[in-house]
Amino acid sequence: MYRLKRYYQRLCSTAIVRAAQRAARWFFVNDTPLDDTMVTVHIPAPLRPFTGSLDRVEVAGATVGELLEALTAAHAALRPQLFTTDGRVRSYVNIYLNDEDVRYLQKDATPVKAGDTLTLIPSVAGGDGRETLAADEMQRYSRHLILPEVGLEGQERLKGAKVLCIGAGGLGSPVAMYLAAAGVGTIGLVDFDVVDLSNLQRQILHGTADVGRSKLASARDTIAALNPHVRVELHETALSSANALALFAPYDVIVDGTDNFPTRYLVNDACVLLGKPNAYGSIFRFEGQASVFAAKDGPCYRCLYPEPPPPGLVPSCAEGGVLGVLPGIIGVIQATEAIKLILGAGEPLIGRFLIYDALRMRFRELKLRRDPECPVCGDAPTVTALIDYDQFCGVGPAGHREGQAGVATEMTVRELKERMDAGEPLVILDVRETVEYQINRIEGSILMPLGELPRRHQELDRDALIVCQCKMGGRSAQAAAFLRGAGFERVVNLTGGILAWVDQIDPTQVKY
Ligand SMILES: [Zn+2]
Repeated sequence: MYRLKRYYQRLCSTAIVRAAQRAARWFFVNDTPLDDTMVTVHIPAPLRPFTGSLDRVEVAGATVGELLEALTAAHAALRPQLFTTDGRVRSYVNIYLNDEDVRYLQKDATPVKAGDTLTLIPSVAGGDGRETLAADEMQRYSRHLILPEVGLEGQERLKGAKVLCIGAGGLGSPVAMYLAAAGVGTIGLVDFDVVDLSNLQRQILHGTADVGRSKLASARDTIAALNPHVRVELHETALSSANALALFAPYDVIVDGTDNFPTRYLVNDACVLLGKPNAYGSIFRFEGQASVFAAKDGPCYRCLYPEPPPPGLVPSCAEGGVLGVLPGIIGVIQATEAIKLILGAGEPLIGRFLIYDALRMRFRELKLRRDPECPVCGDAPTVTALIDYDQFCGVGPAGHREGQAGVATEMTVRELKERMDAGEPLVILDVRETVEYQINRIEGSILMPLGELPRRHQELDRDALIVCQCKMGGRSAQAAAFLRGAGFERVVNLTGGILAWVDQIDPTQVKY
């Protein structure tokens, strides 16, 4: 009996002490700051490029909000990934304290204690990002719903998916339109161009009435007319090393519809660093290529082409031409692969490189293996952050402005016009094809297509100043380099080609 009484007293006293401690803690919590506690923050793969590849970071703070402040103070690049410009946590990032979502605790004010772990969970591909369908969507997608490989679950997955399309041009058009029609819930588009009349032969997102409008505004209207259930996110900007990671982060799949090498390497490297799949496609004249680069496990574009070709060697579509339906075929392959990745259906085009020849109507498939030496996805990657891709590809402002001896190797169209008006003797050498020369030309120029130059350059006057010219300046730069190599001393390249001439000097001529 006595022992029972003592036990009861002890129980009471501890209960009283506990209550007092609780009251004191409550009082102090509300009046004085809590002590900082060291807490481990787990960084998921997509956000590791912003923490110098660290997968966990120790930070001190008393609340979840203070930990996030300390984390982004230590890793400034992470801040725009986690917070909107007005300081709110981005909607595609969830924050868990131990195994609880902090939205259901006290949000930023949730106190932390030693031994806690904070985990950042951004939305990524292949998750359970499903969104329920409305009744009219059931009817719209009915031909999908009866496919066992899609079904209701797959269609909801498509609705929850986010696909980013780089470029709203030849490849971007069929990609965005078919993804929208198929019910991909969010489509992001990156472009900063304006619709030109010469785009309409293949860029079916845009119509005649859109000429002169921003490509993104035109694309948004076309997609809205096709499927109003799709959210279109417009990124009217030039993709760069400074913005690529932040732009890509919220998306599940990236579709590469770029038309130049610096951007293609940039897209590849950003996808590998973020662990995002890249549905790749490219087109030229009558030939197209497609593959899926599956980020971390590779292979990637650099496993195939570690280095870009020298500038000017591979002409762009603007210079070399492209069959109008070709981007349709390649873009639809990219859209198919993006949909398969979202559904997790079929065999993706990973590790396979598809080559399409429209003239012979033939598809060939090559095996593509991850290169253990690959600078981005290899065993010991040397590229661990985005680099200067203009410099890597040898183009841009610091490109071939000056020759080796410091002699100017470029001439602007205005300078050419002044020299012509002054009656200076010079040879304007047009190195385009005959069909192009028939469309427009600089008066007095002589035509010698690039391919004929090795055989015919002896016809040229070695003492004259030779101004090489093509459509935009790429082929003529090659011609100038060839002539200098053949001993011609006074050779320059006309910057911007005939297009710059028509724009700045002679707008009465047609462009193509
Ligand atoms: Zn690689």
